[in-house]
Order: sequence, then C-alpha cells, then structure tokens
Amino acid sequence: DSVFASIVQAPEDPILGVTVAYNKDQSPVKLNLGVGAYRTEEGKPLVLNVVRKAEQMLVNDESRVKEYLPITGVADFNKLSAKLIFGADSPAIQENRVTTVQCLSGTGSLRVGGEFLAKHYHEKTIYIPLPTWGNHPKVFTLAGLSVKTYRYYDPKTRGLDFSGLLEDLQNAPSGAIVLLHACAHNPTGVDPTSDQWEQIRQLMRSKALLPFFDSAYQGFASGSLDADATPVRMFVADGGECLAAQSYAKNMGLYGERVGALSIVCKGADVASRVESQLKLVIRPMYSNPPIHGASIVAAILKDGDMYTEWTVELKAMADRIISMRHQLFEALQAKGTPGDWSHIIKQIGMFTFTGLNSDQVAFMTKEFHIYMTSDGRISMAGLSSRTIPHLANAIHAAVT
Ligand code: PMP
Repeated sequence: DSVFASIVQAPEDPILGVTVAYNKDQSPVKLNLGVGAYRTEEGKPLVLNVVRKAEQMLVNDESRVKEYLPITGVADFNKLSAKLIFGADSPAIQENRVTTVQCLSGTGSLRVGGEFLAKHYHEKTIYIPLPTWGNHPKVFTLAGLSVKTYRYYDPKTRGLDFSGLLEDLQNAPSGAIVLLHACAHNPTGVDPTSDQWEQIRQLMRSKALLPFFDSAYQGFASGSLDADATPVRMFVADGGECLAAQSYAKNMGLYGERVGALSIVCKGADVASRVESQLKLVIRPMYSNPPIHGASIVAAILKDGDMYTEWTVELKAMADRIISMRHQLFEALQAKGTPGDWSHIIKQIGMFTFTGLNSDQVAFMTKEFHIYMTSDGRISMAGLSSRTIPHLANAIHAAVT
C-alpha cells in the first residue's frame, strides 16, 4: 500500500477551483467570471503590444544570458518598480531609504514581506480587511503572523464601513501590522475616499500601526498609474515607514510570468540596507533567486519613454473597457426592471463587482446559466463583453426574481 494512503483529498482553491469547474462544462454559453484575468471584447486573453515588443527586443539581444540573478533580482526592475509606486520624485527613494526586491508576483511579495516581519518585527499580528482576497489569511498565517480582521465592507450600504474600520484600528494593539489594498479593493471594489485615507493615515501613524500595502491593480482602477498610487504616496510623504507588495499580473498582463516586487520604506538609508540584507536571508532558502524573463520585460518597458507611454495607453484601454462593462451591465438590469438597487455596479472600482448575490443565487446561476463566479457573489468585470452581458443580466434577473 502507498505510504501516502491516508492522505485525504483537499478541496479545490475557492477562486482557482471556479476555473476547474468551468473547464469541465461543455455548454457553448458558459462564462467564467471567477478568476480576475482580463479578457478582450472577444473573450480572449490579452498580451499587450508593448509586452510583445519588449519580448522581441529581449530575444534579439544576443548578449543576454541565462545566468542566475542576484537574490534580490533585476536591479533596474527594482529601482523602476519603486519609482512606479512611490513616484518619480519620491524623497524616500532619493534618500536611499527604500529597499526593493524582485519577488514572485504579488503573492510572493506578500509572502516574503510576511516572513520578514514574522522574523524581525516586534508585533506579530496583521490586521486584514473583512472581507479580503481569499489568499491573504493563508499567506500571512503560513508566514508566521497571527491574522486578525478589521471591518471594511458594509453589506447594507454596499459601501465602506468607515466607522467600523476606524474603531477596529483604534482598538488594535500599538505597532500592529495593517494590510491595506492600495486601490481597487478585492473582492468588494470599494475604496476609501481621499479624505478617508487621510483619516486612516492619521490614526495609523498616531498608534504606530505599520502599513503593508497590497498593490495588485495599480492603473487598473482609474486608468492612471499615478492616481491609483495616491494612498501609498500619502503614507510615504509623512516620512513614516511602510511595506508595499506590487504585482504586474494585471496592469501589464504578465499573470503567468510571476513578476512583482516588495519594497520596504525605512526611516534611513542604513536601516534600509540592513533590512535588505535580511530579506536576502528570507529569500535564499525559499526559492534562491527569482526568474529573469518577466522582470526583464517590465524593466525594458519602464526604462524607455516611448514604451512606457505605449503601456499607459494600453492600460487605460483595459481600465476603460472594464468601466464600460459596468455601465452596460447596470443598464441591462435597469432595462429588464430587475428588482433592487444595482447602482453599486457602477460605483465600485477595479476588476470586480461584489454583486450582493448570495451563494444559493450563485449556485443557481451556475447550474441554470453556466455562469461561474466565486460563491461570495464576486464577478470579474474584465471577463465580460458586450456579447455576454445580456446572458449575465438574464441570469441575475432570474436569480433574484
Ligand atoms: N493581492 C490581491 C488583492 C489580488 O487580487 C491578487 C491577485 N488576484 C494578488 C494580490 C496577487 O496576485 P499575483 O500573485 O498573481 O500577482
């Protein structure tokens, strides 16, 4: 008998498992709104033109070799990633008090940051929003932190539970780590206003709470890279410390290339350099050093003025298409007279709409309409097109009536 005979079958991942179920469905009208991956109007995955161009340049450059990268990754990529999130004129960067290491996309950046904090930071509790991306609690628990939640979303208003948020952060122990979605909160699509961000910043600084930003959607929320980085820059501008995990999965469409960065903003250059030395000790036994290809694509685009501009145009087009899907879905439900207030579809921000549909309604839509989404009623707007919106509107209408 197998030495593994007693191992029990694990459940599918709640998000990636949606795609597994979708792939098994033979219906021609099936629709996958589970995973947050951009699709074109034709329902196809998109490789940005500027990414193709950068890859061609890399292939044609015969001086490129396949040697190991340093533990911290591609140096240019790290510098340019810090500039992208903190701003080209960030004093923290100019004062050399930011350390940035290339990691395996957003998830890997969160994990490395989590492990670093578990090993070296005095307070081991991290507060994550309720709800949040399903992988957050697992990543931080396995990193060795203790995970607690702060109130974030109010199902009654389908908006931010701002007073609950402030109260929970107020009651957190001094020094606790707080995970903040930099923009386009997943799964709710609800972000604080800039006034609310300012109040959150003041409260967190007054209690010495440590901000850990998860930036998985920079540029995807508003279509502007700078506008979407504003909350992070507010926290850096006050001279305080913070962490930021960046992903290029969505904004450059590099999902499977696994390219991201972890930055730690410190009070001074000497601390930053010691922090980096310890990040290397976290990374080395985990995966030794990161892969070359994706980070080289990003560095090529970020360092070239024309390619950078081309990227911003393609990024804006993706963001605009998502916003247009919001309006089309909202209008389709209005036209059908579907009961309820659906204005949250156009108010929410980023890749997802938190529909408010419950798990029974979701199961009904999957069974009767072959529409796949996570059981919390989150739908990826990036997976919709003008062609599929009527089908979704019919399904929602049927589910609520
Ligand atoms: N954080 C959030 C909030 C996300 O939505 C995602 C992607 N779904 C990630 C991090 C990480 O994604 P990746 O590892 O593919 O960059």
